[in-house]
Amino acid sequence: MNLHEYQGKEILASHGVKIQRGYIAETAAEALTVFKKLQEETGTDIAVIKAQIHAGGRGKGGGVKLAKNVEEVEKISGEILGMMLKTPQTPGGLTGPGKLVSKVLIAEDSYAPDFDKCQEFYVSIMLDREKKCNVIIYSTEGGMNIEEVAETTPHLVYKEWIDAELGIQGFQLRKIAFNLGLSGAAFKDMTKFIAKLYTAFLKSDSSLIEINPCLVDCNDQIVAVDTKFSLDENALFRHPDYEAMRDKSEEDPTDVEAKDYGLNFVKLDGNVGCMVNGAGLAMATMDIIKLSGGSPANFLDVGGTADAERVENAFKIILKDPNVKAILINIFGGIVRCDRVANGVVDAYKNMGNINVPIIVRLQGTNAELAKEIIDKSGLEVKSAILLQEAADLVKDVVGRS
Ligand code: GDP
Ligand code: MN
Repeated sequence: MNLHEYQGKEILASHGVKIQRGYIAETAAEALTVFKKLQEETGTDIAVIKAQIHAGGRGKGGGVKLAKNVEEVEKISGEILGMMLKTPQTPGGLTGPGKLVSKVLIAEDSYAPDFDKCQEFYVSIMLDREKKCNVIIYSTEGGMNIEEVAETTPHLVYKEWIDAELGIQGFQLRKIAFNLGLSGAAFKDMTKFIAKLYTAFLKSDSSLIEINPCLVDCNDQIVAVDTKFSLDENALFRHPDYEAMRDKSEEDPTDVEAKDYGLNFVKLDGNVGCMVNGAGLAMATMDIIKLSGGSPANFLDVGGTADAERVENAFKIILKDPNVKAILINIFGGIVRCDRVANGVVDAYKNMGNINVPIIVRLQGTNAELAKEIIDKSGLEVKSAILLQEAADLVKDVVGRS
């Protein structure tokens, strides 16, 4: 689950990481109120107005602007709020429709009083699946697109792998500060900053924290000016307060609906919809579709209780995709009996009333024969199979024809 910049900063601040401070506003009037609050707290005259959308590169698209006084705060906030912000990372890029900005962060100017005296670095933490441990990626080339830096000047991108048992070590913190070319107070503060950032990463069960730019300000303090934050959804149950940070308007509507139904769904590019119970069986089903010359339109695990309601919800999700030319239902009846699933499929099919793609049902396990009979006798446009290969052959027939 991705977070907005201001939410990521809230989590960082709760772990003592120094952030560019600010408050959120949804109207220009609110922007004024929070700017005054910020002024009282920090004595700043300048504010940076930052559009809050789930995409980076906002600066390039006009979504990050400096306001030099109260009037400018109101004017710029009004301009950014409600705009369709296009950045290289919004859907379709700079020529796409952009994303609606409904919140702005009114933040202190972290570069004051002298922009040119500040230094921008890049720091991120994520899991290195190959090395089976977390990795800190950092670079002197902050404030820029890191993929580009990695491509053109790979020697300027450093990596530090952290032993899962030992945790981050003092020498590693010093190595990072050294490689970034720091000395004196900034060196010391960077070691503290990275240590706290790493704690924040572990404690929040994040899958990614990216700080770009990570700033050395005019007082030699290290400040997180921007954050990109992804939380591990499988650990969200440990953080009910983070769950509330979900912004559904930033997520794919089909994904949101699937989540609301409790279905485990991932959209893919193919033309055969899959409805399966169990993640392993879902993977195997996608493989067999591929081997039969088709291409899966999705991964969908309906879970252990494949009753009529769940099957109907799964149909709804799958049929939202106009590319779907056939649906393969592959259920193993272990705890749930196949005849119950078969009745569920027939009921859901009748309830939907508008299913106009062929359905292939393969039920295996307890009462599989009885289930096949229920499907075959239903008089619906549903083909049944017991062996996975039979189902795959039926898929091939259907997809081959369409
Ligand atoms: P992004 O474009 O979405 O990555 O947004 P960032 O938060 O990284 O901001 C983009 C750029 O705006 C930064 O690289 C800075 O150059 C500039 N910027 C951000 N915050 C401040 C600030 O407080 N003061 C000044 N002067 N510039 C800022
Ligand atoms: Mn940034």
